[in-house]
Amino acid sequence: MPLDPHSIRPDFPILKRETSSGAPLAFLDNAASAQRPQVVIDAISDCYQRYYANVHRGIHTLSEESTAAYEAARETTRQFVGAQSQTEIVFAAGTTAAINTVAHSWGGRNLSAGDVILLTIAEHHANIVPWHQLAERTGCRVEFLPLGDDFTIDDAVVQSKLQSLQPKLFSFASSSNVLGTNFPVARWTRMAHDAGATVLVDAAQGAPHQALDVQQWDADFVVFSGHKICGPTGIGVLYGKETLLDAMPPFLGGGGMIDRVTTAGFSPTGLPEKFEAGTPPITEAIGLAAAMRYLQSVGLEAIEAHEHLLCQAADTALRNIDGVQILGPTPDKKGGIVSFTVDGVHAHDIAQWLDTRGVAVRAGHHCAMPLHESLGKTASARASFYLYNTLEEVDRLIEAVKEARDKFA
Ligand code: PLP
Repeated sequence: MPLDPHSIRPDFPILKRETSSGAPLAFLDNAASAQRPQVVIDAISDCYQRYYANVHRGIHTLSEESTAAYEAARETTRQFVGAQSQTEIVFAAGTTAAINTVAHSWGGRNLSAGDVILLTIAEHHANIVPWHQLAERTGCRVEFLPLGDDFTIDDAVVQSKLQSLQPKLFSFASSSNVLGTNFPVARWTRMAHDAGATVLVDAAQGAPHQALDVQQWDADFVVFSGHKICGPTGIGVLYGKETLLDAMPPFLGGGGMIDRVTTAGFSPTGLPEKFEAGTPPITEAIGLAAAMRYLQSVGLEAIEAHEHLLCQAADTALRNIDGVQILGPTPDKKGGIVSFTVDGVHAHDIAQWLDTRGVAVRAGHHCAMPLHESLGKTASARASFYLYNTLEEVDRLIEAVKEARDKFA
């Protein structure tokens, strides 16, 4: 059944508001961070109002209830990604924190001078900088797959780099946060494994829009953020195959991640707590689980199909505006993201003008400077859609872009 965004919108209280110009809000900045439905806000508030306490260490009612809710959130997450065991689900602060954990812990243990990490040129800085930092520490090096003319990357290019570079790690986004391009995760993972590489998938832009199945992908690590899937900020997920996580040293040290501490040293506890030092994101995990249940109740397939419809409408209309260039493939190859430039108009001017019309988009390099540089651009404007966006909002976007072009070009 196609999704009706008009029946979804009342679930999201923030969508009723106006922007500073007095125009009704058309929120098209979902790739940066999505909005939260009332059920997520309620789950967080219910925890704080009724049973909040620190988890794992207390022997009292509130701590036991909080611990049960926190661990239930791990089980919801396990089911959401299709992992075999809760020990494979680590709560991190977000995608960035999860990638840094892998870079420090797995990378520090497994990579050394001369080793290669292979990325695509379309990565977010969160999937570039931690590897540059690892390269600085170990002497390994970072290599990039170039984009084809159609904003995708051909399997033959991937295959040839895997063969010629023999990378120890291939780390790539399931979908680009700028181009929207969906990359073939299961296929590339198989190719990388055949070439002997470990695989990390940055699913920050995949998890919000498509049902995850880490078994089907077979990637070694999969990471994503709560705030992009209608959940709270400050939490994300690091999925890792148990054998890999088990062999990795802890990254952050402190309370919660130890079995024993003496004046001479420490021994870490088991999975997943080994990677959850300090007080964990308790209410955030509870809110995250509520967000996952909400998305599943709507249906991720229906969400993906709806975004595709909006993306198709926006992409087609934008391509028909004189002076507009789309950064990204045709809609059949991408998710709900349309990035564009307008000849002679800076992306910031476009975004500012759109805001006067109530349309919220992002402008800049979207934490993807190497990608923009490879495209010969310094910045772009990006409209990104989610389950609550409507075709009327797409029309408002198009009208406002035409106005911006006429005003500034
Ligand atoms: N990776 C991709 C593809 C993203 O789009 C983002 C955020 O925009 C990130 C990583 C970083 O996510 P976070 O800021 O939640 O850590």
